[in-house]
Amino acid sequence: MSNAMTKCLRCGKGPVSTIDSRHDGTWRYRRKSCRNCGYRWATYEIPASMMNDLLDCHKQAIALRGALEKLDSMQGVAES
Ligand SMILES: [Zn+2]
Repeated sequence: MSNAMTKCLRCGKGPVSTIDSRHDGTWRYRRKSCRNCGYRWATYEIPASMMNDLLDCHKQAIALRGALEKLDSMQGVAES
């Protein structure tokens, strides 16, 4: 993850400075400010290991939804 080349979300330039940064549990919250156009926004960063966990959860959720949809269609067939 490269933070060095952070560009402004609005003007696509910079320089961009971090005006606030804090940890919220495992999350890292950063408030950015563009010194070119004055646009401000916030970013949330999580560790890569945590991201993998979230992706696994996401995949499991998709698999579960697929299974539920299959179950629904099976019930539909049974009822008709
Ligand atoms: Zn800007």
